[in-house]
Amino acid sequence: MTGPLRSRRKSSPVDVGGVIVGGDAPIVVQSMTNTDTADIDKTVEQVADLARAGSELVRITVDRAEAAAAVPQIRDKLAAMNIQVPLVGDFHYNGHTLLAEHPDCAEALCKYRINPGNVGFRAKRDTQFSKIIEIALEKNKPVRIGVNWGSLDQELLTRLMDENAGAPDPRDAAEVMHEAIVQSATLSAIRAEELGMTADKIILSAKVSTVQDLVSVYSSLAARCNYALHLGLTEAGMGSKGIVASATALAILLQQGIGDTIRISLTPKPGGDRTQEVQVAQEILQTMGLRSFMPSVTACPGCGRTTSTVFQELAEDIETFVREKIPEWQETYPGVENMKLAVMGCIVNGPGESKHADIGISLPGTGETPSAPVFIDGEKTTTLRGENIAGEFKDIVLDYVKKRYS
Ligand code: SF4
Repeated sequence: MTGPLRSRRKSSPVDVGGVIVGGDAPIVVQSMTNTDTADIDKTVEQVADLARAGSELVRITVDRAEAAAAVPQIRDKLAAMNIQVPLVGDFHYNGHTLLAEHPDCAEALCKYRINPGNVGFRAKRDTQFSKIIEIALEKNKPVRIGVNWGSLDQELLTRLMDENAGAPDPRDAAEVMHEAIVQSATLSAIRAEELGMTADKIILSAKVSTVQDLVSVYSSLAARCNYALHLGLTEAGMGSKGIVASATALAILLQQGIGDTIRISLTPKPGGDRTQEVQVAQEILQTMGLRSFMPSVTACPGCGRTTSTVFQELAEDIETFVREKIPEWQETYPGVENMKLAVMGCIVNGPGESKHADIGISLPGTGETPSAPVFIDGEKTTTLRGENIAGEFKDIVLDYVKKRYS
């Protein structure tokens, strides 16, 4: 049992292009593009979409010279669109070369992600890792040391497995794997500090793809260092499976005060909307009461008392209305993201739930009088009838927003 929400674990705050990760800062939502970074226009478009959806950092793949050369242009095009979201470069295998040969790319990025399992092998590992850290120090950029069990440092894992096999009381292989993941992250961070990097420039992550493994690894990592932690279930999957797995894993850790920034690694459907991962991340934080991003809409599931689709249509209509309005509202009505709406299906729980919300409406269930009482700040204020209940309810919401949050 995790118990009630614990206060956040103390971590060293890291400034990523003006966005603070860790310390007392709000938990940061981030995302990653899936465009070819060398395709400048497509990448700009997707970064802009992610930023507009609320991603506070956006990571882009930097895998070859063409991608590295594109990064400063991407940054400039976004700036021309007045999109200032910090860009993070994702490097594997050749990051040391790309950053050295493309100093404008190294400058344009606000953070470098290094995977210690993919930074070179044997003697080259330390040289190549050191090179990236030296460039980060020279450019005054933070790094994320991001371990992933799909690309875990095999030499470290083999050594720990061999030591375990020779131990008088060997541990379970999964425990040794967890230890290797944690050590890969922490030893790399210690090496970065030996090279001159300070803790306020280091973020760690240690991603795995199953819930129990993630909880085990991050619990251990959090207990053994005070670096800011980037949280995410890697390769979470598609659709509801990916959302449920991510929400479950992250909720357990966030409840324990672990995690300074989160990313939800959803696999979109072909042609699907990449911004869904941002929406899910926001909804996890908001549902847990850790941050507010937009007004919440409470809706009952409906049952045999709601045999028409009127109730579902109104719930969806109001949810969409709020999502569309929030960018404009946030400019003009500070605090509006904390507003609570309720759209309920019948008299059983409708009036009660509506009274708990700032504004609630209780639609008529089957056999009930065809009228919909509206509650504002716990008081019944009016009753809507007829064909335009949705339109009239939206007008009431708009009026409330103007009066309360102006
Ligand atoms: S509020 Fe009414 S319609 Fe909604 S789930 Fe409860 S009983 Fe069913």
